Amino acid sequence: MNLATGRDRDMASESVAEAAFTYAAGGPDTDFARRYGRSVVWNCKSCDQLVTDHGLCNGPAEDERGHADNCPRLAATTARCDAEWEAER
Ligand SMILES: [Zn+2]
Repeated sequence: MNLATGRDRDMASESVAEAAFTYAAGGPDTDFARRYGRSVVWNCKSCDQLVTDHGLCNGPAEDERGHADNCPRLAATTARCDAEWEAER
């Protein structure tokens, strides 16, 4: 996708994941984003449910709404996120 991180002066510390979300959902400073928030809907191949993804804010369980309760992809993403959080502490 050739995503450039930190392209915008205000997004200098943007990660590749954040740049990908911005590419898909649009910038955070648009009128629409400020009024309604940003989200992207995608089909999870693990649980075959439509997921409304709100970005990288509050952890996968909160940010990726719509997975089945026993979705292995969500469980793996949550475990990886928790491990990264523990490693940073
Ligand atoms: Zn899922």
